[in-house]
Amino acid sequence: MDRQYDVIVVGAGNGGLVAAANCAKHGLKTLLLEKHNIPGGCATSFVRGRFEFEPSLHELCSVGTPENPDTVYKIFDELGAKIDWRYENNMYRVIAKGENGYDVTVKGGIDGYCDSIEAACPGSRKSVKAFLDLVVNCKQAVEYITKKKGNPNKLVMALKYGNFMRCASHSVEEVQIALGMPEKARNIVNTYWGYLGVPTDELNCMHYLNMVTGYVKDGAAMPAKRSHELSEALIKVFQDNGGEVWYNSEVTEFLTDESGRINGVVANGDKLFAKEIISNVIPNNVYSRMDEKKVPENDLKLANAREFGISLETVYIGCDCTAEELGVKDYTVFVVNDPNPRVEHDTRGLYIVNSLNKVVPESSPEGTCTLFFTYLCYGSDIPKDLKPEEYKKWKNAHAEKYIKDYEELMGIDIRSHIEEISVATPVTFARYLGTPDGTIYGYKLSGWDHLMSRTAHVKADFTIPGLTFVGGHSSRGDGYSSSYIIGYQHSNQVINRLKGGN
Ligand SMILES: Cc1cc2nc3c(=O)[nH]c(=O)nc-3n(C[C@H](O)[C@H](O)[C@H](O)COP(=O)(O)OP(=O)(O)OC[C@H]3O[C@@H](n4cnc5c(N)ncnc54)[C@H](O)[C@@H]3O)c2cc1C
Repeated sequence: MDRQYDVIVVGAGNGGLVAAANCAKHGLKTLLLEKHNIPGGCATSFVRGRFEFEPSLHELCSVGTPENPDTVYKIFDELGAKIDWRYENNMYRVIAKGENGYDVTVKGGIDGYCDSIEAACPGSRKSVKAFLDLVVNCKQAVEYITKKKGNPNKLVMALKYGNFMRCASHSVEEVQIALGMPEKARNIVNTYWGYLGVPTDELNCMHYLNMVTGYVKDGAAMPAKRSHELSEALIKVFQDNGGEVWYNSEVTEFLTDESGRINGVVANGDKLFAKEIISNVIPNNVYSRMDEKKVPENDLKLANAREFGISLETVYIGCDCTAEELGVKDYTVFVVNDPNPRVEHDTRGLYIVNSLNKVVPESSPEGTCTLFFTYLCYGSDIPKDLKPEEYKKWKNAHAEKYIKDYEELMGIDIRSHIEEISVATPVTFARYLGTPDGTIYGYKLSGWDHLMSRTAHVKADFTIPGLTFVGGHSSRGDGYSSSYIIGYQHSNQVINRLKGGN
């Protein structure tokens, strides 16, 4: 069976869903192909016993409120996707172990944030505030560059966007040190490095600032009915606008015409053709599914040169008592074995514990609560000699280690209240998402490949005609908000190519 569409979107993760909904909304004949039987990729839910667990979302940034909507809110609004947003206005509690350890709860809002860090590290307020303030000039600079046709004027950049010029190519810590921020304050401010998977001596300052100020300003958002609610809302928009979705349909081949243009895919043995293909699938998995002679050498080199991002081990627990009865007081707790992000990264010394009931009380049956443990690691950390029959024991032992550690640290008893438990590892994410090494964050945004350099070279990124990439592996990097934003931006380019316009 041969079929022809305007657009085929491969993969119904966050980037793919927004792109598909946007194309359908603009009247394009769009087919969405997803290998699983439900949409969402990472943004989903799963059920064990009487609990429906959130598998991935800790916090979503750049949402904003109905009164003051930020980018993600606006995208959902423009598409007509309705979400019951809930907010957590405290940023986090961070417990650092060791000699120079601390236990600090960081509040949201500019004043709350600066005051919390000042209380933990007297004398730091001015530098912390100066750090947050940088984002204003940087956002204005990015807006100017984006709107300007041709190269930005050097004099304008130097005179109007001095802070941007001073920071854009530097790491978070280089900028903080230049602002005179004390080490302890830097470590507390940099707690969120794990959300981007790159320690702050390596992470681009603009990237981190953008994320942190988003959370400080608007708090963290999450949907009332797990991230599955987001995916359901987007697929509804897609289908209501005439979009066609095929589940259980893995794309096994990307087709090219004689000129090298991608013009179709194969799914379930069917050849399906389109004027434009949007891939929510990481480039490595696209290139391995097409005629290798048609992959431009530079694109292949780029995919091979990029490092895969971080993965995770996660433990989902349903307890037979409430969070209050358990003694859980916070939505997000970061536990680190050392205050310094570089040490945390290199020793894999960071885990996070969330209790969704603190933000969405009805997210588990009355009289119960859920806990979500997340431990940062790479797919390559899994022992090479681990045998399939040893895997369960290995992952359960890890889960137990973190639960025990947290019980001791907080003086609470979790294990005798566990009613349901499920443990995921990079193997789970590799299998479910199909990503190499189980990366949940696409390619690592560090070294030569940070956010600013990707943005500056976006046209040279991946160049096969007819093929557009969206998702966490794309130019904006990982995370819910990035994958929604890039899905929207890149699908707008596809829409413009097909329909004309600006
Ligand atoms: C445990 C965990 C916790 C996280 N926490 C957060 C957080 O708190 N905040 C945050 O912002 N981000 C978080 N993330 C990251 C975030 O979820 C991802 O960056 C984002 O969802 C990636 O979206 P994506 O568009 O790349 O699609 P993905 O979620 O990667 O989905 C890709 C889709 O493509 C499908 N697919 C793959 N290959 C094929 C094929 N050949 N044919 C058809 N379909 C295919 C897959 O089945 C999947 O549905 C977390 C991720 C995980 C796993």
